Amino acid sequence: MNKTGYLYDIRYMLHDAGPYHPEMAERLSAIHKGIKDGGLLEKVTVIPASRADLKWIKTVHKEAYIRRFEEVCLSGNSHFDDHDNGICTETYETAFLAVGGILDTIDRIMEGELNNAFCAVRPPGHHAEADRAMGFCYFNNVAVAARYLQQRWQIKKVAIIDFDVHHGNGTQHIFETDPSVFYYSIHQHPSFAYPGTGRDFETGKSEGTGFTKNSLVLPGQGDGEYQMLIQADMIPAIKKFDPQFLLISTGFDAHGEDEMSDTRVTTACFSWIMETIMGLAKQHTQGRIVSVLEGGYFIPRLPELARNHLSILLNG
Ligand SMILES: [Zn+2]
Repeated sequence: MNKTGYLYDIRYMLHDAGPYHPEMAERLSAIHKGIKDGGLLEKVTVIPASRADLKWIKTVHKEAYIRRFEEVCLSGNSHFDDHDNGICTETYETAFLAVGGILDTIDRIMEGELNNAFCAVRPPGHHAEADRAMGFCYFNNVAVAARYLQQRWQIKKVAIIDFDVHHGNGTQHIFETDPSVFYYSIHQHPSFAYPGTGRDFETGKSEGTGFTKNSLVLPGQGDGEYQMLIQADMIPAIKKFDPQFLLISTGFDAHGEDEMSDTRVTTACFSWIMETIMGLAKQHTQGRIVSVLEGGYFIPRLPELARNHLSILLNG
């Protein structure tokens, strides 16, 4: 059994994106309930939120953007940058708590207290660009985590695997010229889905060419296509890159019952994806994985999806 961390804090519910917004606090309650009812709380190390130092946020985001985010939140505005990005006065601090909790989790892994962890944070991050909020995301949590691993812990090569059904445009753009961070995403074809980026010919730029890989899934496709693409694209790419640490953008919105996508992934296939990732971590990163919550909006399925996810980190 692994020493597994579980970052969870009720303060992650303080961010309120507004009435009828799909990225709601109830997502976290559902995730936590699944983990608690599954008897996993006693087996993992529960990690509370902590506030990130601004200097780490600045490794990814422009200072002017961070200031603007703070001002817009504190001014009582209900949206930031796009209509999608509902905010409240607590959103700015909650975003700091999300990043800070993840960085604390990384410290615990690098210090040997833990092998891996699942970070159930809000707000999510993979759509956030260096200077723009997008798709319910304000700070790019995994991107800051990758920079932190490199600058605080001298980890040279970090791989980010993103299986949220939407392309992580922010993460791709932040690292597209950087050969030290490999970004792999499997998502619904950009023509049919938000945000419209992540074509298969987007493979990185200048020195980063070859260090971005996108696998595209069409509406109506599900387990078979996911398994085929992960075997054909993800596994060889990660093996070739040989990362020292794996960060996962974990989204459950490719699930067949999730209305945010037209893909038909089953609960069993989400487990298969995570078991596959665990196998790669065993071979390449000494088992070091930090999984960070992105999307997943069908509340009735989130308990089982989160319970299986954490249980694979624990037992895989
Ligand atoms: Zn998503």
